[in-house]
Amino acid sequence: MAVDIGGTHTRVDPGDGTVVRLRTDPDYERQLAMLRDAVPGTPTAVGVSFGGRVTAAGDVRVSLHLRGYEGRPLRHDLESTLDAPVRVAHDATCGLLGEHALGSLRGADRCGYVTLSTGVGAALRLGAGGHFVALTTEAGHQLVAGNDLRCGCGQTGCLETLLGGAALGRRLGRPLEDVDDPGFWQGYARHLAGGLANFALAAGLDAVAVGGAIAARRAELWPPLRAALAERLTYQAVRVHRAALDDAPLAGARVLVDTPPGGVLH
Ligand SMILES: [Zn+2]
Repeated sequence: MAVDIGGTHTRVDPGDGTVVRLRTDPDYERQLAMLRDAVPGTPTAVGVSFGGRVTAAGDVRVSLHLRGYEGRPLRHDLESTLDAPVRVAHDATCGLLGEHALGSLRGADRCGYVTLSTGVGAALRLGAGGHFVALTTEAGHQLVAGNDLRCGCGQTGCLETLLGGAALGRRLGRPLEDVDDPGFWQGYARHLAGGLANFALAAGLDAVAVGGAIAARRAELWPPLRAALAERLTYQAVRVHRAALDDAPLAGARVLVDTPPGGVLH
Protein backbone atom coordinates (compact mmCIF):
# COMPACT_ATOMS: atom_id res chain seq x y z
CA MET A 1 0.00 0.00 0.00
CA ALA A 2 1.02 3.63 -0.38
CA VAL A 3 0.88 6.82 1.66
CA ASP A 4 1.61 10.37 0.48
CA ILE A 5 2.31 12.81 3.34
CA GLY A 6 2.35 16.28 1.80
CA GLY A 7 2.78 19.65 3.49
CA THR A 8 -1.01 20.18 3.42
CA HIS A 9 -2.72 16.88 2.57
CA THR A 10 -2.15 13.20 3.26
CA ARG A 11 -3.46 10.45 0.98
CA VAL A 12 -3.69 6.79 1.89
CA ASP A 13 -4.10 4.13 -0.80
CA PRO A 14 -4.66 0.69 0.72
CA GLY A 15 -4.24 -0.82 -2.77
CA ASP A 16 -7.91 -1.58 -3.38
CA GLY A 17 -8.52 1.46 -5.56
CA THR A 18 -9.94 3.61 -2.76
CA VAL A 19 -7.90 6.64 -1.70
CA VAL A 20 -8.50 8.25 1.69
CA ARG A 21 -7.69 11.97 1.73
CA LEU A 22 -6.87 13.66 5.04
CA ARG A 23 -5.39 16.95 6.20
CA THR A 24 -1.76 16.51 7.25
CA ASP A 25 -1.42 17.16 10.98
CA PRO A 26 1.57 19.42 11.72
CA ASP A 27 1.90 17.53 15.02
CA TYR A 28 4.05 14.44 14.34
CA GLU A 29 2.53 12.19 17.03
CA ARG A 30 -1.05 13.07 16.01
CA GLN A 31 -0.16 12.35 12.36
CA LEU A 32 1.10 8.86 13.31
CA ALA A 33 -2.11 8.18 15.25
CA MET A 34 -4.22 9.43 12.32
CA LEU A 35 -2.38 7.10 9.92
CA ARG A 36 -2.83 4.15 12.26
CA ASP A 37 -6.60 4.77 12.19
CA ALA A 38 -6.67 5.32 8.40
CA VAL A 39 -4.79 2.14 7.43
CA PRO A 40 -7.06 -0.93 7.35
CA GLY A 41 -5.66 -4.23 8.71
CA THR A 42 -1.96 -5.08 8.54
CA PRO A 43 -0.32 -4.21 5.20
CA THR A 44 2.46 -6.42 3.79
CA ALA A 45 4.63 -3.42 2.83
CA VAL A 46 4.15 0.35 2.77
CA GLY A 47 5.75 2.93 0.47
CA VAL A 48 5.65 6.48 1.79
CA SER A 49 6.08 9.72 -0.14
CA PHE A 50 7.03 12.54 2.24
CA GLY A 51 7.10 16.32 1.75
CA GLY A 52 10.67 16.76 2.91
CA ARG A 53 14.18 15.32 2.70
CA VAL A 54 14.87 12.08 4.52
CA THR A 55 18.09 10.17 5.25
CA ALA A 56 18.83 6.70 3.85
CA ALA A 57 17.57 5.35 7.19
CA GLY A 58 14.27 7.20 6.76
CA ASP A 59 14.78 9.92 9.39
CA VAL A 60 13.40 13.35 8.48
CA ARG A 61 16.35 15.62 7.63
CA VAL A 62 14.46 18.75 6.68
CA SER A 63 10.81 19.61 6.05
CA LEU A 64 10.22 23.33 5.59
CA HIS A 65 6.44 22.88 5.79
CA LEU A 66 6.36 20.30 8.61
CA ARG A 67 9.00 21.64 10.98
CA GLY A 68 7.79 19.46 13.86
CA TYR A 69 8.77 16.33 11.89
CA GLU A 70 12.44 17.30 11.53
CA GLY A 71 14.84 14.90 13.25
CA ARG A 72 12.10 12.29 13.81
CA PRO A 73 12.70 8.66 12.74
CA LEU A 74 9.71 8.55 10.38
CA ARG A 75 10.40 5.15 8.77
CA HIS A 76 11.06 3.48 12.13
CA ASP A 77 7.98 5.02 13.75
CA LEU A 78 5.72 4.08 10.83
CA GLU A 79 7.01 0.48 10.93
CA SER A 80 6.07 0.32 14.63
CA THR A 81 2.73 2.06 14.09
CA LEU A 82 1.63 0.06 11.03
CA ASP A 83 3.42 -3.20 11.93
CA ALA A 84 4.82 -3.53 8.40
CA PRO A 85 8.07 -2.88 6.50
CA VAL A 86 8.17 0.74 5.29
CA ARG A 87 10.19 2.62 2.63
CA VAL A 88 10.20 6.43 2.68
CA ALA A 89 11.38 8.94 0.04
CA HIS A 90 10.96 12.62 -0.79
CA ASP A 91 7.70 13.38 -2.59
CA ALA A 92 9.39 14.67 -5.74
CA THR A 93 11.45 11.48 -5.93
CA CYS A 94 8.28 9.40 -5.53
CA GLY A 95 6.54 11.52 -8.19
CA LEU A 96 9.44 10.78 -10.50
CA LEU A 97 9.32 7.03 -9.83
CA GLY A 98 5.57 7.05 -10.51
CA GLU A 99 5.78 9.04 -13.75
CA HIS A 100 8.68 6.91 -14.98
CA ALA A 101 6.99 3.59 -14.21
CA LEU A 102 3.43 4.43 -15.21
CA GLY A 103 3.16 7.95 -16.64
CA SER A 104 4.72 10.41 -19.07
CA LEU A 105 8.41 9.63 -18.43
CA ARG A 106 8.30 5.96 -19.45
CA GLY A 107 11.48 5.01 -21.34
CA ALA A 108 13.30 8.31 -20.61
CA ASP A 109 16.93 7.72 -19.52
CA ARG A 110 17.58 11.33 -18.41
CA CYS A 111 14.47 12.82 -16.89
CA GLY A 112 13.19 14.95 -14.04
CA TYR A 113 10.06 15.65 -12.05
CA VAL A 114 9.12 18.98 -10.48
CA THR A 115 6.25 19.39 -8.05
CA LEU A 116 4.48 22.74 -7.61
CA SER A 117 2.54 22.57 -4.39
CA THR A 118 2.96 23.91 -0.85
CA GLY A 119 6.65 24.04 -1.75
CA VAL A 120 8.69 23.30 -4.88
CA GLY A 121 10.40 19.92 -5.10
CA ALA A 122 12.58 18.46 -7.83
CA ALA A 123 14.11 15.06 -8.49
CA LEU A 124 15.89 13.48 -11.40
CA ARG A 125 16.50 9.99 -12.71
CA LEU A 126 19.52 8.97 -14.74
CA GLY A 127 20.18 5.55 -16.22
CA ALA A 128 18.79 2.88 -18.48
CA GLY A 129 17.10 -0.44 -17.84
CA GLY A 130 17.83 -1.83 -14.38
CA HIS A 131 20.84 0.47 -13.87
CA PHE A 132 19.59 3.83 -12.69
CA VAL A 133 19.55 6.27 -9.83
CA ALA A 134 16.66 8.52 -8.81
CA LEU A 135 17.83 11.38 -6.68
CA THR A 136 16.35 14.21 -4.73
CA THR A 137 17.71 17.66 -5.61
CA GLU A 138 17.38 21.17 -4.18
CA ALA A 139 16.46 22.73 -7.54
CA GLY A 140 13.48 24.39 -5.81
CA HIS A 141 16.03 26.45 -3.87
CA GLN A 142 18.11 27.49 -6.89
CA LEU A 143 18.92 31.20 -6.70
CA VAL A 144 17.15 33.56 -9.08
CA ALA A 145 19.08 36.69 -10.12
CA GLY A 146 17.40 39.90 -8.93
CA ASN A 147 15.14 38.10 -6.43
CA ASP A 148 15.63 39.54 -2.93
CA LEU A 149 12.85 37.58 -1.20
CA ARG A 150 13.81 35.61 1.89
CA CYS A 151 12.98 31.89 1.75
CA GLY A 152 11.90 29.61 4.60
CA CYS A 153 15.14 27.67 4.08
CA GLY A 154 17.20 30.69 5.23
CA GLN A 155 18.53 31.70 1.81
CA THR A 156 17.58 34.85 -0.06
CA GLY A 157 16.40 34.66 -3.67
CA CYS A 158 15.18 31.05 -3.93
CA LEU A 159 12.89 29.95 -6.78
CA GLU A 160 10.48 28.64 -4.12
CA THR A 161 9.70 32.21 -2.98
CA LEU A 162 8.33 32.85 -6.51
CA LEU A 163 6.55 29.52 -7.09
CA GLY A 164 5.69 27.82 -3.78
CA GLY A 165 2.04 27.87 -2.69
CA ALA A 166 2.84 28.63 0.97
CA ALA A 167 5.32 31.44 0.21
CA LEU A 168 3.01 33.05 -2.38
CA GLY A 169 -0.07 32.69 -0.18
CA ARG A 170 1.71 34.55 2.64
CA ARG A 171 2.93 37.30 0.33
CA LEU A 172 -0.39 37.75 -1.51
CA GLY A 173 -2.46 37.50 1.68
CA ARG A 174 -4.78 34.87 0.14
CA PRO A 175 -4.53 31.27 -0.98
CA LEU A 176 -3.06 30.76 -4.42
CA GLU A 177 -6.19 28.90 -5.59
CA ASP A 178 -8.09 32.21 -5.27
CA VAL A 179 -5.74 34.10 -7.60
CA ASP A 180 -7.28 34.42 -11.08
CA ASP A 181 -5.36 37.42 -12.44
CA PRO A 182 -3.93 36.33 -15.86
CA GLY A 183 -0.96 38.70 -15.41
CA PHE A 184 0.01 36.92 -12.22
CA TRP A 185 0.01 33.52 -13.94
CA GLN A 186 2.02 34.85 -16.88
CA GLY A 187 4.68 36.08 -14.44
CA TYR A 188 4.52 32.74 -12.62
CA ALA A 189 5.06 30.92 -15.94
CA ARG A 190 8.16 33.04 -16.71
CA HIS A 191 9.74 32.28 -13.32
CA LEU A 192 8.87 28.61 -13.71
CA ALA A 193 10.36 28.48 -17.23
CA GLY A 194 13.68 29.89 -15.97
CA GLY A 195 13.79 27.39 -13.10
CA LEU A 196 12.86 24.43 -15.29
CA ALA A 197 15.41 25.38 -17.94
CA ASN A 198 18.24 25.64 -15.37
CA PHE A 199 17.21 22.34 -13.76
CA ALA A 200 17.10 20.54 -17.13
CA LEU A 201 20.34 22.03 -18.45
CA ALA A 202 22.32 21.41 -15.24
CA ALA A 203 21.63 17.67 -15.49
CA GLY A 204 21.30 17.37 -19.30
CA LEU A 205 17.70 16.15 -19.03
CA ASP A 206 15.63 15.19 -22.08
CA ALA A 207 12.25 15.35 -20.35
CA VAL A 208 10.69 16.95 -17.27
CA ALA A 209 7.21 16.20 -15.91
CA VAL A 210 5.57 18.90 -13.79
CA GLY A 211 3.12 17.77 -11.13
CA GLY A 212 1.55 19.01 -7.92
CA ALA A 213 -1.72 20.82 -7.27
CA ILE A 214 -0.69 24.09 -8.97
CA ALA A 215 0.40 22.37 -12.20
CA ALA A 216 -2.73 20.20 -12.25
CA ARG A 217 -5.34 22.89 -11.52
CA ARG A 218 -4.00 25.94 -13.37
CA ALA A 219 -4.64 25.27 -17.05
CA GLU A 220 -3.87 28.93 -17.87
CA LEU A 221 -0.29 28.34 -16.75
CA TRP A 222 0.59 26.08 -19.67
CA PRO A 223 0.37 28.30 -22.80
CA PRO A 224 2.64 31.06 -21.35
CA LEU A 225 4.95 28.38 -19.88
CA ARG A 226 5.38 26.70 -23.27
CA ALA A 227 6.09 30.09 -24.90
CA ALA A 228 8.62 31.07 -22.20
CA LEU A 229 10.38 27.70 -22.46
CA ALA A 230 10.59 27.97 -26.25
CA GLU A 231 12.29 31.40 -25.85
CA ARG A 232 14.85 30.05 -23.38
CA LEU A 233 15.64 26.51 -24.51
CA THR A 234 17.15 27.20 -27.92
CA TYR A 235 20.21 24.94 -27.46
CA GLN A 236 19.07 21.57 -26.07
CA ALA A 237 15.56 20.28 -26.69
CA VAL A 238 13.79 19.41 -23.45
CA ARG A 239 10.32 17.88 -23.37
CA VAL A 240 8.39 19.63 -20.55
CA HIS A 241 4.84 18.50 -19.86
CA ARG A 242 2.23 18.08 -17.21
CA ALA A 243 2.50 14.89 -15.11
CA ALA A 244 0.21 12.25 -16.61
CA LEU A 245 -0.78 10.70 -13.28
CA ASP A 246 -3.33 12.41 -11.03
CA ASP A 247 -1.21 11.68 -7.98
CA ALA A 248 2.27 10.74 -9.14
CA PRO A 249 3.85 10.75 -5.62
CA LEU A 250 1.22 8.30 -4.36
CA ALA A 251 1.73 6.03 -7.40
CA GLY A 252 5.49 6.37 -6.95
CA ALA A 253 5.27 5.41 -3.27
CA ARG A 254 3.93 2.05 -4.47
CA VAL A 255 6.79 1.77 -6.98
CA LEU A 256 9.28 2.66 -4.20
CA VAL A 257 8.47 -0.55 -2.31
CA ASP A 258 9.99 -2.61 -5.18
CA THR A 259 12.83 -0.20 -6.09
CA PRO A 260 16.33 -1.46 -5.13
CA PRO A 261 17.63 0.62 -2.17
CA GLY A 262 20.69 1.63 -4.24
CA GLY A 263 18.41 3.07 -6.92
CA VAL A 264 17.35 5.98 -4.72
CA LEU A 265 19.67 8.69 -3.41
CA HIS A 266 17.94 10.71 -0.73
ZN1 LIG B 1 15.00 28.33 -0.20
